[in-house]
Amino acid sequence: MDYYSNQITQLIEELGKLPGIGPKSAGRLAFHIMNMPEEQVKKLSDTIISAKRNVHYCKECCTLTDQELCPICASDKRDHSTIMVVENTRDLMAYEKTGKYEGVYHVLHGAISPMLGIGPEDIRLKELMARLQGDVKELILATNSSLEGETTAMYISKLVKPTGIKVSKIASGVPVGGDLEYIDEVTLLRALEGRTEI
Ligand code: ZN
Repeated sequence: MDYYSNQITQLIEELGKLPGIGPKSAGRLAFHIMNMPEEQVKKLSDTIISAKRNVHYCKECCTLTDQELCPICASDKRDHSTIMVVENTRDLMAYEKTGKYEGVYHVLHGAISPMLGIGPEDIRLKELMARLQGDVKELILATNSSLEGETTAMYISKLVKPTGIKVSKIASGVPVGGDLEYIDEVTLLRALEGRTEI
């Protein structure tokens, strides 16, 4: 039975499709939005649409940015010869929050998963290999410690080894299957500092 007007039901349904939003939270958000001044609702929806329209992959590292190059790739204060490979932009942000990493990144946007039918060509691996033609001294693999993350790290290390570029992997201590973004900065730093060459 439809307790609310159709449009509110629809709004609850759409909000409920977002990650981490259950039916209860979706309802709470929907009623909150209904009580917001129209101007504020418009600002929210305009911001979502404009971010979606203008944000794309950085030409260099494939992270999300609204510029041609993200601020990290554009910075001459970063060490462009050290590339840390992460699965997504959220992981990049987690490492950036530590404020201690001075290299640059490469965002794969996923991990290899034979079970889900995600192969090497489905993630931004080709772009990474192209970057290795430049002056790269070290590649730090910081994919998640899930099965997919480990598979991806192994695949990349095999691919890169023959080039002679140093390949290292962040130390374990990052919980298995844990999303990097939920791990505290101290743990992340320790994992980075304790990385070993593979
Ligand atoms: Zn970039």
